[in-house]
Amino acid sequence: MIIIGFCNLKGGVGKTTACQNIAVGLARKGKRVAVVDMDPQSNLSAGFGVIPSATDPQVFDLLSGGAEWDDILRIKEGVDIIPSSLDLTMAELNQTGPLSSDHVLRDALKKISQDRYDYILLDSPPQLGIFTRNVLAACNKIIVPMDGGYYSLFGLKLLDSSLDILSERLGNELEILGILMTNFNSRLYISRQIYDDVKKNFGDVLFEKYISQSVSLIEASNMGFSIFEYSPKSKAAQCYKEVTEELLKKLEKFSAPSTRKAAPVVVKPKKKEEKQEPEPEQAPEKIQAAPVKKEPEPPEEPEAPAPVINSRPQSTAGPYEEGIKQEVIDMLPESRKAMWSQMLAPISDITRGEIDVKELREDFERCDNGRYTFYVLNDEQESLWPVMYPDQIVEPMRCVIKWDEYGAVEVFM
Ligand code: ATP
Ligand code: MG
Repeated sequence: MIIIGFCNLKGGVGKTTACQNIAVGLARKGKRVAVVDMDPQSNLSAGFGVIPSATDPQVFDLLSGGAEWDDILRIKEGVDIIPSSLDLTMAELNQTGPLSSDHVLRDALKKISQDRYDYILLDSPPQLGIFTRNVLAACNKIIVPMDGGYYSLFGLKLLDSSLDILSERLGNELEILGILMTNFNSRLYISRQIYDDVKKNFGDVLFEKYISQSVSLIEASNMGFSIFEYSPKSKAAQCYKEVTEELLKKLEKFSAPSTRKAAPVVVKPKKKEEKQEPEPEQAPEKIQAAPVKKEPEPPEEPEAPAPVINSRPQSTAGPYEEGIKQEVIDMLPESRKAMWSQMLAPISDITRGEIDVKELREDFERCDNGRYTFYVLNDEQESLWPVMYPDQIVEPMRCVIKWDEYGAVEVFM
């Protein structure tokens, strides 16, 4: 019996969707599979159409010893499901309750006969709280789902760099079995770059197959089905089928003794997630590890003189920075592209300039599509006011604009 935890400290990266569909994919391969929903959001349970009533036993009862595995489990699509509900949150709040230890789930799973299941998959919430620690203490291997955005890379990096310390604390030698791109838009430059970076740093641990963005997956879980049940002929079902096959191959390979070394050097912090663009479903394809050739055009040199006081030094920006910069510039009106081309710079590449604050605000509002955060900061780097309160800004102002390490754009006065 192999227990696999689905973890990424970033939320919304496809952990639950992957856990559900891989579980059903494995069941369809004739494997005996159970899933445990260790997330109080209970998305995995709902994804299977299982919503326990207040009196139904669920994972909380398993952990507290209030009910046995067989009294709790529901069976859907050939998978045994231990559902959760918001009651689990109460367990977290009650520090002296059954979930005061990181090993409650592990101990509960130990009671299950080793030959009852081939695989038990554990879904976890995004934070490294008590539920995720219980998942990590109970599992033999970890699958890290990622959505191809910068923040999920950050979640991977956080998890990876914590593995040694967590292994020690939890008394469980943790190993990443696979990193899976779950909601992947191969047309996005940044996603392809992230794929390549992860490949470079983690090698074969990265699943070669990725799950393309697909509306069917959202619909399927909303309707309470796996993609195999909801839309068996869809590209997404094909993706998950192939990922399941790849997983089975990985499991063969990884059943050898653990070879995990100290955490590999992970991709250095890069800039922020690209704007998600809808991508039509497409057949899963192998992504070449080779660097992506088609890159965004570097920003053009301004044709008109920009209102810059001292010109920008030679850019040290890598492809991420240039990609994000280009994305911001693309959103701006033609008349101000040149100025921003000069002004926007990564943190290592400071620029100074004078800018009309009203225009600055308009530009920020235009770019503030929920993906970028703009702040006006003073020299002590305290936030004076968000740009949405522009009346307080006296114009014109001199400013320094730079990315922080997470990709937010900051304006220093
Ligand atoms: P949380 O951290 O909140 O538990 P999660 O990591 O479990 O989130 P999911 O709930 O699996 O993430 O997915 C987040 C959202 O993305 C859901 O609405 C899901 O339907 C959607 N999603 C997952 N995979 C895809 C995909 N390949 N294409 C489009 N949408 C997807
Ligand atoms: Mg989830």
